[in-house]
Order: sequence, then C-alpha cells, then structure tokens
Amino acid sequence: MKASIHRPTVAKVKVGNIGHNFDRLTENLPARTKKFAVVKAGAYGHGAVEVARELSSKADGFCVSNMDEALELRQAGLEHPILILGVVPTDCIPLARQTNISLTVSSLDWWHLVQEAGLELDGLSVHIKVDTGMGRLGFRNVEEITELIEELAAADVDFEGIFTHFAAADQADDCYYQEQLQNFRSILDQLTSLPDLIHASNSAASIWHPDAVFNMIRLGDALYGLNPSGRELELPYALLPALSLESQLVQTKLLDAGQKIGYGMTYESRGDEYIGTVPIGYADGLLRAMQGFSVLVDGEPCPIVGRVSMDQITIRLPKPYPLGTKVTLIGQDGDREITVQDWADYVGTINYEVVCLLSSRIYRQYIE
Ligand SMILES: *Cc1c(COP(=O)(O)O)cnc(C)c1O
Repeated sequence: MKASIHRPTVAKVKVGNIGHNFDRLTENLPARTKKFAVVKAGAYGHGAVEVARELSSKADGFCVSNMDEALELRQAGLEHPILILGVVPTDCIPLARQTNISLTVSSLDWWHLVQEAGLELDGLSVHIKVDTGMGRLGFRNVEEITELIEELAAADVDFEGIFTHFAAADQADDCYYQEQLQNFRSILDQLTSLPDLIHASNSAASIWHPDAVFNMIRLGDALYGLNPSGRELELPYALLPALSLESQLVQTKLLDAGQKIGYGMTYESRGDEYIGTVPIGYADGLLRAMQGFSVLVDGEPCPIVGRVSMDQITIRLPKPYPLGTKVTLIGQDGDREITVQDWADYVGTINYEVVCLLSSRIYRQYIE
C-alpha cells in the first residue's frame, strides 16, 4: 500500500529519540560488546532505512527477519553487518554471499537442503541458532551442533556467531529465563570451538538481565522507547517514545438525541452531540476493537463512537471545532498523553503489535 500523503493523517517519527534510547540502553555495556539494532518489520513500524541511518554511527550491525528486509538496507547504502534472524529459502544463499548478509542456521534439515542444492558456499557467514526453550527456531542438542560446525568448516562457511532467544526475559518471575540461560551456557561449554559472536539478549534481557550479554546484544522494542514488558516491569531509566500519530477533523456535525452512528448502528447520540470525523481506520492499523478508546482534541479526551471503519473514525467532541483541528491518536496534547501502550492495553495486546500494525498507508514524517 502506498503512503497516503494527500491526507492529514501522519505518523511523526523522531529518529533522534531512537538514537538517544540506543545510547541509554548501551551506555553501561563494555565497549567490546557488539550492539546490534533490530530493525525488522520496518523498524517496528518506524521505518527501517531511516532508523538504520540514524543508528549508522552507533550500531555495530542490524538484525532483520528476512532477505528482503536485509536487501532494503543494502540498497539504501548501509554497509554494516546484517544478520537475518529467520530461516531463508536456500535459493537466497548466492544473494546473501554476494551482499555480505549473515544467515541463521537453525536446523540440520535446512543445512542438508543447502548441501543438496550444490551451491558455492565459501565466504558465506552464518550464526547458529540454539533453541534453549523458546521452541521455535534452533538446535536443541549439542551433537547436532557439533556435526554442523564440522560441516560448516569443511564447506568453508564462516561460523560467525551462535545465539539463542529468551521467551520470558520480560517477566517479573525469572525462573524460565534462568533455565534458558543455563541451557545456553551448558551448550556453549560442550562445544570445542566458539565463534566470535555469542548473543542472547533482546531488549528485555539487556535491560533487566545484564548477565546474559555475552559479547553481543540485539536491541529491538526498547530502541523505539517502548517497554518490552508492557507494564509488568519498570524501566530503570526513561526511554523516549519515537512515534506520534496525528490527524485532523475533516467534518463535524451537531446531532440531536437518538441519531445512529456508523456501521451496524452501534452508537446512538444521547442528547445534542458534536461528532467529528477523522480520516484513519482499520486499514491504517487502528483496529475495530479500538471503538470506545479516547483520542485527544484540544487536550481533551474524545471517545471513538460507533464502529471503526476502514478509512475513518467518528469521535464525540465536547464542543464544536473548526475543520482542520488537530486530533492526537498517539502522543501528547496539552497535559495529556496517549501512548502506544495505552492502545495495546485497550485491545489486549502488546506494544510491539500496535506499532507493527500501523500500516504503510500512514505517511511517516521524519523529524530531526
Ligand atoms: C525480534 C527479535 C529480537 C528483538 O527483540 P526485542 O524484544 O524487540 O528487543 C531479538 N532477537 C530475535 C531472535 C528476535 O526475533
């Protein structure tokens, strides 16, 4: 979907805040620790290329989830190390070698497909993924890893890193985190050769579990000023939100009592009510479940009344406002602020999902 630029709905991204958050999150780490920024999914909706450019002098490399996300960074001229965290189709291997993009090997099954494809492999860089309890990607036993390491060496593949991923580094109860960390340490202990890069920390582990740093970290959610635990754990320092979302009133009307609003007539005015229409809807990532949530006009909360449509919402205003009046959907207006976490709480999800769902139709404006 193309960004709609002829529309007052805009996500303003303060990339400088992401730079600030990067500094804050990494200031206590040893200088030798490699700090990778996770910019998958369009940098969690903030814009992968813009965020990577902002971090280009700070980050040691970038993590993405697939080949296309990696190529987007290369095509933008970024020459940093890039690690693809997901499984790529084996036919991506020539391109990965050519563009110097590191791949994750997470099973022998995949490695055997690579061998059967008879591709040239020398110079390819890989990280081995260990499944210490996430149950998603990765090797669960040392014998398989040892076998893979030998075969990588025989094929002249550069064994650059080994890593795991935590399922619960963002929870107050750290039992499962500790179990995974133990598993990872025990697997590392049993390997006869270790690569340069050993990493386990996502944002949550980087913030609350400094013991899992090894010599590289992968920072995602927190870079964007979001708390990876939601409201469960408090951040030890303030992070700056980077994204605000604004639109404008494109129509207002005064309805008397008993007038229906929106698909399914789920709302009926109770007395004289000023209703404003705002050009943002579920096609932008403002879910239908947001009905009833309050946005800000002139510093005042105004509830979304009636169904959220594909392209518009209707809100109840305390008084009439002129067309073009600013509507704040995420961000600050006067003394009040709406956060990404407020959206997440309202629809029963996590802040990650809210920012990822802000669709490409929303124009992103980058503010220095
Ligand atoms: C997305 C992802 C991260 C980043 O996680 P955050 O919680 O956003 O910091 C790190 N590692 C892997 C494997 C991931 O998939």
